[in-house]
Amino acid sequence: MRLLFILPAIGKKPGQKYIGTWKMEPLTISTLKALTPPAIETSFYDDRLELLPDLSDIDAAAIVVETYTAKRSYQLSDRLRAQGIKVILGGYHVMLAPTEARAAADSIVIGNAEMIWQTVMEDLLADRLRPEYTGQPAFSSVRPDRSIYRGKKYLPVGLVETGRGCIHDCEFCAITSAYHGRYHRRPIEDILSDISQHQSRYFFLVDDNLFADREHALALFRRLRDRQIKWAGQGTLMIGRDPELLQAMKESGCEILLIGFESLNDDNLTQMGKLHHLRKDRDDLVRAIHRAGIHIYATFVFGYDQDDEQTVAEALAFCQKHRIYTAAFNHLLPFPGTALYDRLKQTERLLFDKWWLADGYHYGELAFRPKKTTPEALARACYEARKQFNTLPWLWRRFWQVAKRSSPMLWLLFWVMNGSIGSEVSQKMNVPIGENLDELPK
Ligand code: SF4
Repeated sequence: MRLLFILPAIGKKPGQKYIGTWKMEPLTISTLKALTPPAIETSFYDDRLELLPDLSDIDAAAIVVETYTAKRSYQLSDRLRAQGIKVILGGYHVMLAPTEARAAADSIVIGNAEMIWQTVMEDLLADRLRPEYTGQPAFSSVRPDRSIYRGKKYLPVGLVETGRGCIHDCEFCAITSAYHGRYHRRPIEDILSDISQHQSRYFFLVDDNLFADREHALALFRRLRDRQIKWAGQGTLMIGRDPELLQAMKESGCEILLIGFESLNDDNLTQMGKLHHLRKDRDDLVRAIHRAGIHIYATFVFGYDQDDEQTVAEALAFCQKHRIYTAAFNHLLPFPGTALYDRLKQTERLLFDKWWLADGYHYGELAFRPKKTTPEALARACYEARKQFNTLPWLWRRFWQVAKRSSPMLWLLFWVMNGSIGSEVSQKMNVPIGENLDELPK
C-alpha cells in the first residue's frame, strides 16, 4: 500500500514562479507520517515546490485542505480518483465546510486527524474506508517524523504547537469556529521533547493565541528558559499588562510576537467581538511589550462597518508612531463556518457565494461589499498602506528603534522580513486561485 500526502498550493500567475518566500515545513504532514503504520509506504508532494509526481504506483492520497487551497485540493482529488486512487481529505477547511468536502473525496476527516489517523490507516489497509471520521481536538504524544520532508527545502525554522483553539470569540475567526471557543493545551513535556528533537534553534510556536491559558503559557516559558532557543509566536495585546508573563516570555527566547490588532476603531472591535482589545491604554500596552525587548508583528483586517480609507490610514499611522517591527494591512475575508460569513450571507453582501471556489476570484480581492466604501477602494487602501509602511524613509526610522532594542540577528531579519513581505504581497495580488499549478516554474 502506497500513500501520497499532498499539500496543495494557492495558485500562481502563468509563467511565473509560485510566490512564497517563507516556505515552512507543513507540520501536519510530519505528524501524520509518524502515525502511519510501517505497512504503508509514504511519500509527500508539496504543490508549492514541485510538479505532481508519477501516480502509477500510488494507492491512496491524503490531502490537507485550507480554504485558500480548497479549489486546487478538489481538482487534485478529482484527478486522482479518476485513476482509481482513494482520496482522504482533512484540514481546517474540511472542519469548516464538511458537506462540500464530502462530495469531493472517498473519505473525510473532520477535526484533528491525529487522534483518529491510525484507525483511518487500518481501515485503508483493510479496504473498508468509512466516508467520514471525526477526530477529537486532543494531542497524541507522537513526535513529528520529519524524514517525510527529505529533499525539500524549507526555512530552517521549527514549527511547534503548544495548544489549539482560543477562548475568545471573534466573529471572523476560523480557529475559534473550528474549536467552538475552547482551548486545548498540549502537555509541556511533549512540547519540550518536540523542540529538543528539532535541529534548529529558531522556532515558530504556531498557536493562534499563546496566552489562551495563562498558567500553561507561564509554566512553558519558564521551562524554555534554559533551552537557548529563539522563537516567535502569536497572542493578544493583553500580554502588555502582565509583566510577569512578559518577562518570562522574553527570558524563554521570544523575539517577535504577532498581535492581531484587527482594528483601532471601538465600534469595529465591538462588532467583531474582539472585546479584549477595546482599550484606552493600547499605546501603553504596546510600549510595555517593546520595553520588554519583544518586537511586534501587527496585523489588521479592514472591512468592518466603520472601515474606509481613513481607518486604514489611522492603522498605518499607529504602526509608524510605534515603530512597529512589521505589519500586515489585510482586508477581511469571510471564511466558511464563521459567524461573519453567515452574517454577510444573510444580509446579501457576499460578492461570491464561495469565493474560495469561484472562477475569476483572485488573491487580494474583497469577497463582499463593505458598508462605507467600495471593495476596490478598500483593497487599494490596504495595498497603499503596505507600500507606505515599507518606503525606505519609514524603514530606516523603524530600524533605528529596532536596532536599539535587539540583537544583530533581529536587525537582519527586519530587512529580510520587511523586504520580502512587502514585495510578496504586491506580487500575490491578482494571483488566480487554484490556477497554473501544473506548470513550471514553481
Ligand atoms: S483572539 Fe485571535 S485566535 Fe482568538 S478568536 Fe480572536 S482572532 Fe481568533
